Order: sequence, then structure tokens, then C-alpha cells
Amino acid sequence: MHGLGVSGGIAIGHAHLVTLASLEVDHYSIPPEFVAREVKRFDRAVKSVRAELDALEGELKEQHDQHAGSGDIAAFVTIHRMLLDDPTLAEEPRAIIQRDHCNAEWAIKVQTDELLAQFAEVQDEYLRERKTDVRQVAERIVAALTGQGGAVPEKLRERAEDTILVAHDLSPADVILFKDHQVAAFITDLGGRTSHTAILARSLGIPAIVALHGSREIVREDELIIVDGTQGVVIVDPDETVLAEYRLRQEQWRLERQKLTRIKSAAAETLDGVAVELHANIELPSDIDAVRQCGATGVGLFRSEFLFLNRRDLPSEDEQFEAYRAVAQGLEGMPVVIRTLDIGADKTLDPNISNNAHSALGLRAIRYCLAEPQVFNAQLRAILRASKYGDVRILIPMLASAVEIRQTLAAIAIAKDQLRAEGRKFDPAIKVGGMIEVPAAAIALPMFLRQLDFLSIGTNDLIQYTLAIDRTDDTVAHLYDPLHPAVLHLVASVIEQANLANVPVAVCGEMAGDVSLTRLLLAFGLRDFSMHPANILPVKQRVLNTDTSACRRIAAELMRSGDSEEIRAKLAELNRA
Ligand code: PEP
Ligand code: MG
Repeated sequence: MHGLGVSGGIAIGHAHLVTLASLEVDHYSIPPEFVAREVKRFDRAVKSVRAELDALEGELKEQHDQHAGSGDIAAFVTIHRMLLDDPTLAEEPRAIIQRDHCNAEWAIKVQTDELLAQFAEVQDEYLRERKTDVRQVAERIVAALTGQGGAVPEKLRERAEDTILVAHDLSPADVILFKDHQVAAFITDLGGRTSHTAILARSLGIPAIVALHGSREIVREDELIIVDGTQGVVIVDPDETVLAEYRLRQEQWRLERQKLTRIKSAAAETLDGVAVELHANIELPSDIDAVRQCGATGVGLFRSEFLFLNRRDLPSEDEQFEAYRAVAQGLEGMPVVIRTLDIGADKTLDPNISNNAHSALGLRAIRYCLAEPQVFNAQLRAILRASKYGDVRILIPMLASAVEIRQTLAAIAIAKDQLRAEGRKFDPAIKVGGMIEVPAAAIALPMFLRQLDFLSIGTNDLIQYTLAIDRTDDTVAHLYDPLHPAVLHLVASVIEQANLANVPVAVCGEMAGDVSLTRLLLAFGLRDFSMHPANILPVKQRVLNTDTSACRRIAAELMRSGDSEEIRAKLAELNRA
């Protein structure tokens, strides 16, 4: 099978089919003589989910006795247990099987859809929000029916290292859970190259392929599969010869990565003596180990929104402060750029926190923060308080207009005044930067240069918004092109203007970690790159082999071309030079 390889490397392991995102079930009829048996099958599934929830409840109770804080989850398991005992979920599907002679999975789906539709009309907000719980209980029953029993993390506890997850789709919130249960690889039917799901796969350092279409019809549970994330190829049930070939390639990949560790502590400097900063992108405080191991000189992008996913409430100011302080202290004087909450698009808040869609063109990132001043204030106070413990900087995502810059700076000033009045310490000269990821910002750059201390180009969104291509949509993934002349002109012009104005500028989108673009970005005048820890050493090696003056000439020719074939040919020439 061929898909989009979004994270390189080779994994060989056993498939585990997961259903996380939705109730996807088949519909088939049951001959009258087997209807009673189907009802029993349904009853067994309900019984096994009941046992699963009881076990979970027991486990959580034990944890609760040891640590505070797990009470919330326990309450939520109790709600699930109650829903499971309610006749609308435990009895009604039996009647549907008997009436329609359909399979049990379908009966539970029909009943759940009906229930969810009723919930939509409920006035009471608390009750309306129980929708998610109903869906999750129904998903558990379906999982038990299809023999998948249990949520993913439970399953992964047993045999994560050689497990390859096969899913229709995975949200960034699903993938972040794998940080604790490292899997060998994952493949999905949907998704785009710079979706956050793909970005997380790269940060986990595991091979991943998206946009496979129909993988779950081809791959069976537990089947042996090979995932070649570099080529975007999945091989199902390989024979011995193919297996041997891929084991060899896997070993070669490992050796190449190992060889690179030799340059870990070398300074990143080009052949003609240009010094370059190579910073790391992180999602959670626990990523700090990887930052230290790869020899990065700081964190250029801490995607703070990952602290807000997979939970039903907002992290408090103190909780955020602890997370930011841990990173600031862990970096021992190296800088950390904390990006304020970039919620929206594919990173969604629990409906308990916000029911709005926050689409890519909607109330996303800074727009959401300015609309929710209390949420923003708590985060700004937490970042400011952490600034006492290291070299902390603030980065604002998705800015597009002067008003937003002004309002953001005012919000920071208010947070500072509050802390001062309370006698709390922080860095009063903390640097505030803006992400350049909306074309309007790149085009009207002077207002950013005047009001902000530094810039960071988010090429993932800059490409999405310039080319009007949804990053997460596999049907337009072929049109998502970092080498489109419009994108290259915007990136080159932002770097050039910032350099002229003496305002520090970095690139923190995926372009920064793509070795094939390192020389081009150097030729544009970029001296600060931020990328996943896994990309730092390959990019450093390219920096060490580059003469920027030779690159500038070829890059200038490349920029004169409007033709994509010609641009690619020039880029190849640049990389051979
Ligand atoms: C970007 O848009 O390039 C970026 C770095 O931010 P994110 O990928 O988190 O949207
Ligand atoms: Mg972005």
C-alpha cells in the first residue's frame, strides 16, 4: 500500500486495528434463527465492558489513595458505569436486533445516534455535555463486540514495542497519549503531511504513514506488517526475502543515525564560517531529555496547547507554571520560546471547556485567547512567573493585524502589573515575538517589526493559508507545496526584511527540519532554525557541509523561476553544490 510517509524510518511489527475517532461499524442482516445468538453476543459485550469499567474504577481508586488528582477521572468512570446500566444503552439495542434482524454493532450505533440527537435538544448544559460520555460508552461496547476490548493505552501496556497502530484517523490528542506507551509506528487512512498528528509522529521518532485509504480493509488484527515511513510504503504479510531486505534497511537506518551522534557537540557553523542556531520544537515538558540528547541550543517552539488536550478542564495557572518552570530550569540557561495557546484546527479542546469548532479560519490561536481573556491571563501569568527560572520568551501564534498585536501586548502588560502588585518575581524585559503564519502578516511585515522583539515563521500554516490547502486533508495533500513560488517569496522576504531591521527571525515550521531545504533557507539569510529533536543532527550535518556564498547564487536563480519543475531542478543543483 502507498501513502504519504510523514515520519521516516522502518518498523516491522504486528498490526493493531484501533477505532478511536468515531463509531465506524458494518451493517449486515442476521438470519432469523441466529437472532437470539446475536442478542447474547450483545449481552456478553455489555458484561465485559462492565467488568472493564469495574477494573478501571478499582485501579483508579488505588491511585487516588496514593496521589491526589485522579478523582476527576474516577468520577467520569462512574458516569460511564451508570450509563452502561441504563436501559437505553443496555436494553434498547437488544430490541433493535430482534426487530431489525441486524448485527449488534449496528444496533448500538442506531441507538447511540438516536440518543445523541436527543441530547442536542437538551437545554441543560451539563446534561448536553454528557453526549461525549454516551459516545465513549457505545464505543467501548463496539470495541468489545469486535474483539478489541479496552481503550488503546490499556492494550498498549502489554506489547507496545512491536505494535503498529492501524487507524482510520488519529487526532493529535490521541497521538500525544502514545508518549507514555511508545508504539513502533502508526498508519492512518486520512491526514496530511503537516497535520499535528504527523508532526507528533516525527517528535516521537517513529515511522508514520498517513493518507493510505482503506488500510483497515487490507490489514487484519495481529498481522505482520512493514512500515517504511521514508518511502510511504506499507507491506502486509511479507515473505522471508522481503522481511530480510527490510531488516537490513532498518539496521542501515539505525547505523546512519548513530553515526550522526558524532557531531552532537560540534558548533553548527558553515564552511565559510556562518554560525547557525539549531533549536528544538517540543510539545511537553518531558521532551526536554530529547532536546539535551540531540545537542540543540535551546527550545525554539514549545507548543503549549498540548497541556490543554485530553482533559475535561483547563490547566490552572499553577499547573501551567510548574510545567513552564520545569522546562526553563531543565534547559539550564538555554532559551525556551513558549508559544501561547494555539488551540483550534486539528487541536481541539474538550467540549466541556469549549463547544465552538475553532476551525483553521475561525476562532483559533490568538483569536481564541483574546476572546477568552481569563484563559489568556492565566497562561501569561504562568509564563511570566516561570521567566524567573531561565531564559523564557513568549511567542504569539497566528497574528494577522496591528489590533491583535496591541491587544496582546496590553494583556501582557496587565499580567505584569498584577504580578508586580502581588510582589511576585518575573523577568520584566521578557521578549515577546510573533509567529508569521498568516500571509497578511508576511506582507504587512513592518508593523510586526516595529512592535515585536523577534519573529518566528510558521511555515506549516503559512503554506496552508497562502495556498488555501487544509493541512489535514489528504485529498489536497498533493497540492501542499513548500516550493510554491508564492511561499518561497513570502519566506525569503520575511527573512530579508527582519535581517535588515535587525529583528531576530527564526523558522519553526516543518521546512526548518527538512534537510533538502537547509541550504535554500541559509541562502535566504536564515540563521535560526527550530525543528524536532530528531532532525537536528541531519540538519547540522548539512550546515557543516555548506558554503553559503555558493548557495546564494543558485538560490537567486531558483527564485527567478515561476515553474515548479525548474525550481525543483535548481534545488537539486543547490543540494549537489
Ligand atoms: C507552523 O504553523 O508552522 C507552526 C510551527 O505551528 P503549528 O505547526 O503548531 O501550527
Ligand atoms: Mg502554526
